[in-house]
Amino acid sequence: MLLEQLREIVWKCNLELPKNGLVKMTSGNVSGRDPQTGLVVIKPSGYSYEEMTPAHMVVVDLDCRVVEGDLKPSTDTDTHLYVYRHRPDVFGMVHTHSPYATSFAALGQSIPACLTASAMLGGEIPLGGYAPIGGSEIGQEIVNKIGRALAIVMQNHGVFTIGSSPQHATKLAVEVEEIAMITHLAMLRGQPILLTQGQIDYMVDLYRNEYGQR
Ligand SMILES: [Zn+2]
Repeated sequence: MLLEQLREIVWKCNLELPKNGLVKMTSGNVSGRDPQTGLVVIKPSGYSYEEMTPAHMVVVDLDCRVVEGDLKPSTDTDTHLYVYRHRPDVFGMVHTHSPYATSFAALGQSIPACLTASAMLGGEIPLGGYAPIGGSEIGQEIVNKIGRALAIVMQNHGVFTIGSSPQHATKLAVEVEEIAMITHLAMLRGQPILLTQGQIDYMVDLYRNEYGQR
């Protein structure tokens, strides 16, 4: 079987989504790109997390051709592949509709940087405009709007995170939801105190040695 190790990693990362309360039923997906072959391993479409095994993961090339796997890849595969094609630094990607972060998406709001943890994601989590599901529009919007951030809220939709590995992007997806929840609670009681750009830059520098290819 192709990319056995990456299949195992992507499968495990997918299981982290329901475990951390980021997804319900079959929604959400994690993918990973193999640095050697450039092939991408992604969750199959509409498959339940409990029944999934590493062998169910689908291997696709960057043009969305299935290289190995009996199941159809996630409906968000085009989005993942668009980002991989345009961001050579990205080797893992996660998409969820995690509730607190997605409530910002429903309001068309970015998630402000008012917590030190925000620096792990590059500061403010930007907002991408509405884009229809299934084509390359979401991917284009992510690439155009994400900047140096590692997560983006897509209006009326949900959250995408990008990282140096599937594990990194998964960790960030959990972090985004935590930040969104705390920010939401803070906004109920007042105006959150925003970090300054200098404070963000200092902490981004601290975190960046964890990011990128080693
Ligand atoms: Zn979605």
